[in-house]
Amino acid sequence: MEDSSAWRPLDAHCHVDLYPDPGELARQMARRSCRGIAVTNAPFVFTHTKKLVGACPGLEPALGLHPELAAERAKEIELFRTLLPQTRFVGEVGLDYVTPDLGIRALQRAVFGEILSLCDEAGDKVLSVHSRRAATDVIAAVGERFRGRVILHWFSGTQKELERAQANGCYFSVNPSMTASKSGQALIRRMEPSRVLTETDGPFLRIRDIPAKPWQTVDCLPFLADVWGCTREDAARRVDDNYAAAHCHVGQ
Ligand code: MN
Repeated sequence: MEDSSAWRPLDAHCHVDLYPDPGELARQMARRSCRGIAVTNAPFVFTHTKKLVGACPGLEPALGLHPELAAERAKEIELFRTLLPQTRFVGEVGLDYVTPDLGIRALQRAVFGEILSLCDEAGDKVLSVHSRRAATDVIAAVGERFRGRVILHWFSGTQKELERAQANGCYFSVNPSMTASKSGQALIRRMEPSRVLTETDGPFLRIRDIPAKPWQTVDCLPFLADVWGCTREDAARRVDDNYAAAHCHVGQ
């Protein structure tokens, strides 16, 4: 992007604590004026991650319990409840139906349901939510009256599921893998421009076989600009506005 130096790259879903040197990554993010949400996969790593991201203004520590860990760490929901008042940001949470085990899926739903009800009670939380092969159940669990903001991260559901999520007020964080793939592009074309944020899901997302860095969300801008019929600079501005809206209007 010609104007990329002017954008403060937004990574709305990044596992800062899982990079080889998280402290260094946070400092690099600060140097590049990156912002975003540092998700975690289990409550016991939240306090450590919160300290780490202190090195980067605008990087928010999120309290999470990843669906793929939900069954073995279900007991940590108590720690989740204790820590929740320390942050407005929650993630990574959600459902993952890659497992064929119906008992594990049920346990995931119980944990996610509990998290949603704690967040609903708080009324002002911003959630980064995983929904692989489980979009219908995730959207149903969130419902139409959830008091908070839900960002569906790396959404890969159907167009119908996307429309239902959108009708319920969900946002989407899209990454360079999605903007480069046919299926991701088809979904992004159906997203309302006002609901789109950027993410990397680093270090899990790899770009040219290297774990993606949060500032590489800039790679999403050419496709977004193309779909929205605007300049890359305008696309960046729109993502910024969406991120601000995702925070400010929670609870209203
Ligand atoms: Mn993730």
